[in-house]
Amino acid sequence: MAKRLRNGYGHRAFRRQAESLRRRTKHEHLPCEWCGKPIDTSLPSTDPMSFTADHPKALANGGRLYGQKLAPMHRRCNSLKKDSEQTEIWEAS
Ligand SMILES: [Zn+2]
Repeated sequence: MAKRLRNGYGHRAFRRQAESLRRRTKHEHLPCEWCGKPIDTSLPSTDPMSFTADHPKALANGGRLYGQKLAPMHRRCNSLKKDSEQTEIWEAS
């Protein structure tokens, strides 16, 4: 939990958007943006295959979360993606 707050995931607008995306993911069976497999939204947030909402353009836009188009993603895939993004940033600068 503390880690999520440090990453800016405690943002109120983001949480609202994430919750509505979770409902859409459940009802429309949206796949994971990273691996393309279905997401079980009933899994506990501690499960690596549980639902997370990713904000693809947050880093490019200076970290602004509000108004971002969120994508459904497995917790495991979200952290894999973040690892690769971090690598790109360090290589670019
Ligand atoms: Zn995935």
